[in-house]
Amino acid sequence: MTSIEESLGIAPLINAVGPNTRLGGGFVRPEVARAMVEASQWSVDMAELHGRGNAIIRAATGADAGIVTCGAAAALLLGTAACVAGLDPAKMDRLPDTAEMRNEVVIARNQRNSYDHAVRSAGVRLIEVGVPDRVSGPGVRDVEAWEYGAAIGERTAAVLYVARSRSGPPLQEVVRVAHAAATPVLVDAAAELPPVSNLRRFVEAGADLVAFSGGKLIGGPQASGILCGRRDLIASALLQQLDLDILPSDWEPPAGLLDGYSLVGLPHHGIGRQCKAGKEQIAGLLVALRLFAEEPPERRLAEWGDRTNALLAAVGNVAWLEAKLISDALRGDIPMVALRLDESACGMSARELAFRLRQGTPRIEVKIERADEGLLICGPTCLKEGDPAAIGRRLGEILGVRNERLRAAG
Ligand SMILES: *Cc1c(COP(=O)(O)O)cnc(C)c1O
Repeated sequence: MTSIEESLGIAPLINAVGPNTRLGGGFVRPEVARAMVEASQWSVDMAELHGRGNAIIRAATGADAGIVTCGAAAALLLGTAACVAGLDPAKMDRLPDTAEMRNEVVIARNQRNSYDHAVRSAGVRLIEVGVPDRVSGPGVRDVEAWEYGAAIGERTAAVLYVARSRSGPPLQEVVRVAHAAATPVLVDAAAELPPVSNLRRFVEAGADLVAFSGGKLIGGPQASGILCGRRDLIASALLQQLDLDILPSDWEPPAGLLDGYSLVGLPHHGIGRQCKAGKEQIAGLLVALRLFAEEPPERRLAEWGDRTNALLAAVGNVAWLEAKLISDALRGDIPMVALRLDESACGMSARELAFRLRQGTPRIEVKIERADEGLLICGPTCLKEGDPAAIGRRLGEILGVRNERLRAAG
């Protein structure tokens, strides 16, 4: 058997959601797939490979240093571990036991999310600040920079800032307050690429560490990510991920990462050992990053525009549906198609329609976060050519085709 469809007995689905982990993340570019295949046949000194990665990530992000991780969540764990342990191998070896260490991370209450488990995995406690009263109160105020300052104390290891388009206060203000207390700021920017300008934006705003996903829209392997920022923190993060089963006297540190630091010793397998980045992920991510940084953004925007237009055309005749072009609520630059179902007229809820799309052949996944309003949203970023037509066909099978003549007569 040749294809994995045959040998594993599983068919891919049509993904009108986006590069969500649940659906396998984004697609790697062909050059990335080739790099991964090549690297899979290498034996390589992983420290040396990370040293090359450091140079490439520095050039792409403007940060002092950077490493490839096996995802943004891994980058958050490693970044937190770095803020707690610094370059002290004894502390590294004790994590996640952080007794007697700086073991608190300050976060805005409205930025809490399920990925902050990665930060807590390092053994820290989250200290929440702000009163997000937009749901339960007047909806006027939220978190302000001084509240971070008031929460930072001698147990604070870091401030965690989740960068989304609606995050506030501005990162620069949080950085100013944190740095006044000599506290590093770790930014979760997992899903903020593209735009390509965000590769540099958070570093330029003063972040000490920034975590990006490689497996979302930059075209890297699904299980890849980047941690970039201050060199001492990146060096600590790498030491806590690298396999160091070598005599310390024989070890060659990765180029450019540890120069100038004197370590009392090398840690044993660190807290990051369980999220090691393989050579295939590293090679693939580095090729993806270079291509992403060089590519004119218009190219992919045009491709996504073509997919949404094809989808609009494909659903134009489906009964009970109105299709409209919208832009992503969080990412204004990505076009989306909103399908409004006339629920009462057709006797089916949008949620049930999504369920039937998921159960059919081919399986189709759409965004259901606005299903309560009768809306299903389709995004273009993980649609392949031919997918829009297949979605239109399947919707036609479920809902029927509009009778234009009746309509005209009515
Ligand atoms: C996707 C995401 C993550 C996790 O990224 P992985 O690369 O899948 O580990 C973390 N934080 C936010 C905000 C995300 O959107």
